[in-house]
Amino acid sequence: MDRPVVCIVGRPNVGKSTLFNKIVRKRIAITEDNPGVTRDRIYSEAEWLNKYFTLIDTGGLEPEAEEIIPTHIRQQVEIAIESADVILFIVDGMEGVTSTDRDIANMLRKSGKEVLLVCNKIDTKGVSDQIYEFYELGLGSPIAISAEQGLGIGDLLDEVIKHFPEHKDIEYDDEHVKIAIIGKPNVGKSSLINNILGEDRVIVTDIPGTTRDAIDTYFTYGEDKYIFIDTAGLRRKRSIFEKVERYSVIRTLTAVDRSDICVLVIDATEGVSEQDTKIAGYAHDNGKGLIIAVNKWDLIEKETNTHLEFEKDIRNKLSFISYAPIVFISAKTGKRVDRLFQLLKVVNNNINLRISTGVLNDIISEAILLSQPPSDKGVRLKIYYGTQVGVRPPKFLIFINKKELMHFSYQRYLENQIRKYFGFDGTPIQFEFKEKG
Ligand code: GDP
Ligand code: GDP
Repeated sequence: MDRPVVCIVGRPNVGKSTLFNKIVRKRIAITEDNPGVTRDRIYSEAEWLNKYFTLIDTGGLEPEAEEIIPTHIRQQVEIAIESADVILFIVDGMEGVTSTDRDIANMLRKSGKEVLLVCNKIDTKGVSDQIYEFYELGLGSPIAISAEQGLGIGDLLDEVIKHFPEHKDIEYDDEHVKIAIIGKPNVGKSSLINNILGEDRVIVTDIPGTTRDAIDTYFTYGEDKYIFIDTAGLRRKRSIFEKVERYSVIRTLTAVDRSDICVLVIDATEGVSEQDTKIAGYAHDNGKGLIIAVNKWDLIEKETNTHLEFEKDIRNKLSFISYAPIVFISAKTGKRVDRLFQLLKVVNNNINLRISTGVLNDIISEAILLSQPPSDKGVRLKIYYGTQVGVRPPKFLIFINKKELMHFSYQRYLENQIRKYFGFDGTPIQFEFKEKG
């Protein structure tokens, strides 16, 4: 699902993170213990009136101390303009308009993005005179809130969801497979993209249109049509900020959201790192197809079993994505990039695969026969039947007698039984259990 992205920008101390926490507070408790990156608290799922969106606090991207403030705010605003569907520009109602506010307003006006001007720290009810001076920023009527007191937040969110694009997915036709190349800085993501786009059998297509299209690359590889998500962010590294991990995280997460399949690039000379785990966790949680590409394979001195040892290490450290195929590549020499495309084809097939209800229930019946479902206090788990209710990723709805009896280990067992017959290589599988009397 392609959720709208809302970015909070503004100079330091205007109340960005206070507002962020107010909006996402209840979600954070839920997402705290997943392996995704959400706990960094600069990025979270949020919801208002059943509309789900991704909220980003660019203030969470505070740079190391010695960096110059204006430059870093400029970076935040640029990232917001690139990534967001709606930008919340926060100003401080107690301090009034500052020159930095004017600079930010200029950038935002030029961007053509949906911008809401939010005047924070209006702590007493009723419209305050303080907000009028902000009309000079040329971004329409300021919306008065108090992030700290929780005043005006509901009205603000009403306004936010009004500005969501109607059908985000329509930007893309479905024949293109959307690929996000993800991974830490310096693992070779841009080298890989450049290598692929430089290949003879690749034809890059220009798609005239929206600003968002300009950051993606449409191309064909043989018969197949693809989009590289956020190629611009990867290919043009405009400053050292691009190499700062925090910034690359935002880029990565929005790219994952918009993709069908993620290629997680790992540096062979470094192995699997903590950040790789987080990024993989995020792709997994969001139901994306996943391929692991071990890059810089040309730098590794190889003996007979080298790749098997690597594979073992990856399977250990990334055990929750054991379904993801692994390919050893070199973005520098182009080695096995063709194999990567074979895998993309397979995985694209699998994320869209449907199994018929009849076959699914044969598999379930056999699974129950082979391993009896667990019981608790004399009550045994009963599985009545299941049906596939979705693709991208494949999702199964299973009717059972009592939800508490469905333990994770039995769910994992069912998943393995389904994979035994259908593989589903490269795609997560999701389950929903419903009680039926
Ligand atoms: P950020 O740097 O933009 O993320 O700002 P913070 O959220 O860290 O807030 C900066 C300061 O402003 C903190 O001391 C907050 O307690 C305070 N603050 C935030 N929102 C409000 C508000 O609505 N009213 C008042 N009076 N103070 C606020
Ligand atoms: P990114 O930050 O993930 O986009 O990484 P880059 O594509 O900028 O690559 C980082 C560095 O690794 C550059 O110096 C590349 O030349 C180098 N590099 C990338 N891929 C390979 C590879 O397959 N083999 C070797 N030897 N070097 C590579």
